[in-house]
Amino acid sequence: MKCCILAVGNEVVSGDIVNTNAATLANLVKAYGIHTVMHMAVEDSKKDIVKAVKRCLKKADLVFTTGGLGPTYDDITKKAVAEALGRKLVRDEYSVEVLKSYFQRVGKEMMPSNLSQCDFPKGSQIIQNPNGTAPASITKTEEGTVIMLPGPPIELRALMETEEMLSFLNSLKKEEILETTLRFIGIGESNLAEILSDEMKSEENLILAPYSNTGEVHLKITAKGKTKEEAEERTEQLMQVIYQKAGQYVYAEGNHPLEEVLVHTLIENGQTLVTAESCTGGMIGQTVTAVPGSSKPYLGGVVTYSNELKMALCGVSQDTLSEHGAVSSQTACEMAEGIRTRLGADIAVSVTGIAGPGGGTEEKPVGLVYIGVSTKEKTEATRFNFVGNRDKIRQLSMKNALHLALKSSLALADSVSEI
Ligand code: ATP
Repeated sequence: MKCCILAVGNEVVSGDIVNTNAATLANLVKAYGIHTVMHMAVEDSKKDIVKAVKRCLKKADLVFTTGGLGPTYDDITKKAVAEALGRKLVRDEYSVEVLKSYFQRVGKEMMPSNLSQCDFPKGSQIIQNPNGTAPASITKTEEGTVIMLPGPPIELRALMETEEMLSFLNSLKKEEILETTLRFIGIGESNLAEILSDEMKSEENLILAPYSNTGEVHLKITAKGKTKEEAEERTEQLMQVIYQKAGQYVYAEGNHPLEEVLVHTLIENGQTLVTAESCTGGMIGQTVTAVPGSSKPYLGGVVTYSNELKMALCGVSQDTLSEHGAVSSQTACEMAEGIRTRLGADIAVSVTGIAGPGGGTEEKPVGLVYIGVSTKEKTEATRFNFVGNRDKIRQLSMKNALHLALKSSLALADSVSEI
């Protein structure tokens, strides 16, 4: 089944508020086998809404409208939908009762204009709003079904979770749909697509969609089946092939961010981590400490932006800085080893690089970043040539530092278990 989502509201069209309702709905309906084919946003103009509803109904079997269900003169979604469907607006007496008791409960006077919230296209199913005064409605016609929802996201979500709505959505469900995400790092979107080109060929029951996300690729697997088990089996078989072909780049199954995976891995392995950051200015520490429970493995770190602090806090030697410069493999290694031994951690990660826009040379261009990792077994630095603006280079440095720390945690745990 296909669906369109039509947001109504001047504030959405003008960009004053972000149309999060569209994303919420498109994501919610997937589980019922509903494929969202179009998002639209129109101003609070009856003529425009009528046109938009008609257009949506030509394209899809189901149309969600959001917003414009309030009591004020500019809330005209219901009038417009009724006109588009060729139905009269009729007052629902039960909704009037619910509204009256709401106003009594909150001790406010009900305005006559509030009654317009109880008018719906004839023949609609009405769903009371647990978080507000505007009910939702489901209107089925030969051209398709229109569901009207209020704009405030908290009201919209609550209505989508009502028994009536779930039962309607379940009645549309023809198959089971299972969505799984694999997260990759260390490989670009196009390389991954190339490696998995056979698997990417669209098959109706198994769809792979890669999304790139600053230094990472997320691969969404959508499997369909007559039963949940069938969809699970399809996913499982495909995952086996993906792991064979590109398993070394997978860092998480499911929507778990890299920092969370790192913190949990460190905890599992009983290891501690410290950081020495130059061009990332504390971003690694900030990202790691955003994960609940990070206080156990993350001891802390230093921001050593100047050469003086690289020497004073990490013990980088003057000779190294004079001979190789602050942005060099040698400095990254000395930063990592120095901070690890001084702070007594199992793993240290360091970053030194040129985030730009100034400061680059032919030999050391903007985007050149060294990330050092030190454990009691070895200390080494990896060179990266990132492309992008200052923000992107810093983000990429941070992500790759987390990734190298994760790899090092796994390697260290492996080497301990071998002993
Ligand atoms: P009510 O008037 O009862 O609050 P309504 O259905 O008339 O509800 P609107 O007046 O259109 O809703 O929007 C109310 C608020 O809901 C907006 O100010 C905005 O904060 C939020 N909102 C509206 N549309 C969207 C949308 N598409 N995505 C996210 N938030 C939205």
